[in-house]
Amino acid sequence: MKRRWWFLVCMVALGLMLGGTQGNWESLAGTANLTRQNIQLPAAVHYPLPPSLAEIPIKGEDYFDAVQPLEVGYLLWTQFPVTVAIEPPPWDPNQVWQAAAKQAVVEWSAYLPLEIVDASLPANIRLLSQRPTDQNNRRARFAETSYELFVDSQGVLRHRCRVMVRPTQAAKFVLAALRHELGHALGIWGHSPLPTDALYFAQVADPPPISQRDVNTLRRVYEQPTRLGQRLPELTPHG
Ligand SMILES: [Zn+2]
Repeated sequence: MKRRWWFLVCMVALGLMLGGTQGNWESLAGTANLTRQNIQLPAAVHYPLPPSLAEIPIKGEDYFDAVQPLEVGYLLWTQFPVTVAIEPPPWDPNQVWQAAAKQAVVEWSAYLPLEIVDASLPANIRLLSQRPTDQNNRRARFAETSYELFVDSQGVLRHRCRVMVRPTQAAKFVLAALRHELGHALGIWGHSPLPTDALYFAQVADPPPISQRDVNTLRRVYEQPTRLGQRLPELTPHG
């Protein structure tokens, strides 16, 4: 039986909601809408921790309880380096947005191997300088991360992420948003309750760097099982 190239429809938007004057940007928007077309998902497996995460001493707490597992398991990358393509705005005279995007990648690179690739190439994560489209006509979003599941040519279940951050903000907020959204794209699919974490659910006046709690949480995510990176079971033709 011919394996069909298919897509699981999945757009979970972790939208940064810009609501009110305070700039309360965050709330989880949307739910996983996994369309299974008689598809049998592979079993979830544990992967070895990437050395860069394994080396980090665990101290203090985390907010792993706030991270949502999805139907495919935790949204972690199973191949490294994770490639990141940066698509800056067409008009970015001081390269504020672009510099912030690179900076965010560099910051997370301390914990997971990331590689910036040319924007013309396919990438695991795309950082886009766009205003997220607001399909449901809710509040204007400042940033958003979504993922898409697919099966590659080897029959392996994989995902890719799109991060959209609007360029029209002060540099430190653009960086904070990219840092935050990249945290989602790397697997922290949830929000911290504390404003001292990069993955805090709201925008703060003085955005914090990646915290120990962020890193502890990321590490716990990568200790979890996932179906991603596994081959789909062979389909049995019916009839
Ligand atoms: Zn978020």
